[in-house]
Amino acid sequence: MNLNEDVLYFIPLGGSNEIGMNFNLYGYNNHWIIIDMGIMFAGDDYPGVDIVIPDTQFIETIIENIQAIFITHAHEDHIGGVPYLFEKFNCPIYLTNFAKKLLETKVKNTVCNDSLFLKKVEYLKPVKIGPFEVIYGNITHSIPESSILSISVANKVIVHSGDWKIDKKPLIGKKTDTKFLRNLSKKGVDVLICDSTNVFNRNLSGSENDVRKNLFKIIKSSTSKKIFVTTFASNIARLSSLIFIAVKLDINICFIGGSLNRSFDIASSCGYLEKPKNYINSNEISSNKKTIIVCTGCQGEPRAALSRIAHDDHQVKFIRDDLLIFSSKIIPGNEKKIGSIINKITRLGVEIITEKDQLVHVSGHPGREELEYLYDILKPKSLIPVHGEARHIFEHANFAKIKGVKNPIIINNGDLVNLSKEHIYVEDKVHSGKILIDSNTRISPDSEVIKQRIRIKENGIIFILLIIINNKLFNIYVSSIGLLENYLEFEDELTKELEKNYKMKLIDKNNYELITRQCVNRVLKKSTKKRPKVIIKYVNESNYKD
Ligand SMILES: [Zn+2]
Ligand SMILES: [Zn+2]
Repeated sequence: MNLNEDVLYFIPLGGSNEIGMNFNLYGYNNHWIIIDMGIMFAGDDYPGVDIVIPDTQFIETIIENIQAIFITHAHEDHIGGVPYLFEKFNCPIYLTNFAKKLLETKVKNTVCNDSLFLKKVEYLKPVKIGPFEVIYGNITHSIPESSILSISVANKVIVHSGDWKIDKKPLIGKKTDTKFLRNLSKKGVDVLICDSTNVFNRNLSGSENDVRKNLFKIIKSSTSKKIFVTTFASNIARLSSLIFIAVKLDINICFIGGSLNRSFDIASSCGYLEKPKNYINSNEISSNKKTIIVCTGCQGEPRAALSRIAHDDHQVKFIRDDLLIFSSKIIPGNEKKIGSIINKITRLGVEIITEKDQLVHVSGHPGREELEYLYDILKPKSLIPVHGEARHIFEHANFAKIKGVKNPIIINNGDLVNLSKEHIYVEDKVHSGKILIDSNTRISPDSEVIKQRIRIKENGIIFILLIIINNKLFNIYVSSIGLLENYLEFEDELTKELEKNYKMKLIDKNNYELITRQCVNRVLKKSTKKRPKVIIKYVNESNYKD
């Protein structure tokens, strides 16, 4: 692939066909910078795999020319890929104080050494890297220190929105820096690269302050002694609201779950949270004093605190008349897990409140009103919707066009976008895709092991061992897993079929695989249409003496 001189390029390698694993490149005359390096959670598509990262094979061709990595904020879909991908790079990572502290905990004992690579940025202070000048501006989201970046290069001003919303009372950190945005507008914004997550939402995303007020009302009026609240560990404003409520109402508060406590410590070290006097440990919860119990597991994660408490695998217990508030949204793909945990807890007589019942959560991404507000301030000449699945990206481009943005273009991961022309366009395509982190190895989504896991999960597995000693059939072992309810009957019938074929001299060392599979298919056909994984071992001992 040829890259032209004096052309500014944009390439998303992740986040522009999915919500997750954001990874964006900007390049000009062989100087490249990266914005964000995120992960995605694997979900049910890839059994046995937790984490997905972008396939960065394309980077190998320009690795020497990558000059810096800029992180917009500390959510996993923007920062979580650094521990997996950084070994490739030899350049600084710029990020705000909160994101830096969080990343330091993730990259301890790796090559991503703090003093060498992690550089704290100050808002509004330009960072000059080769031909690029990058400036961080404050924008509200659902984690402290989210940033919108201006990238000035080759007489162009590009605005990379990161994740954002307009929250007039964000509770933690500063409000959106509208002065910064207006100044960018004065310079003239050529391209806005913008969050598409909530483009289907007609309303404003809402303020953390409104959630605080409503949580206060619910907790104050509740007669339950134990009020469980589950939320995202990174939502520091929400944690601060719960501490605020506990202090105001003079009730106890306790945090359960590793990620919550880590998040709390980082937020405390940045001055965003403070442990109140009425903070207690989980073994100090008493039935005499009202207590807010903040716990991990709002997405139904089986190893998180909420799930363990629900399954009676924790010292803290649910009892009748407790209250549980899901101060979170359901991330698509987690509906079943959350549904089953809600059913389990409901049966224990616990009252449950979710965002569907009351205002106990607000999103961190812009709805249509907020998108329109940003277009009005920045007046971009062109727009590239990112941070979305195809449906979000298409809808965002349509919406922007209706609202008067002249040149919204639709892109996909791997597109090489020419930003230098008046009408930006997709000039070419580079390699892109996903890499699965499978324990300590990295595998492709098309890998045989994933296909096998899916097949075994849905169809079960049959093991067949044929033991031949001194040219006589000594024994046949058949065993099946996850195939049929009446598996003993099936195994017995298959054993007889194999014995019959052997006695008829149909099976020998050359054709045992084929004939055995034919026997399996004949017997299977009688009871199921499943296509299980079949493993056949043929042991032929010719000089065996008993
Ligand atoms: Zn994001
Ligand atoms: Zn985010």
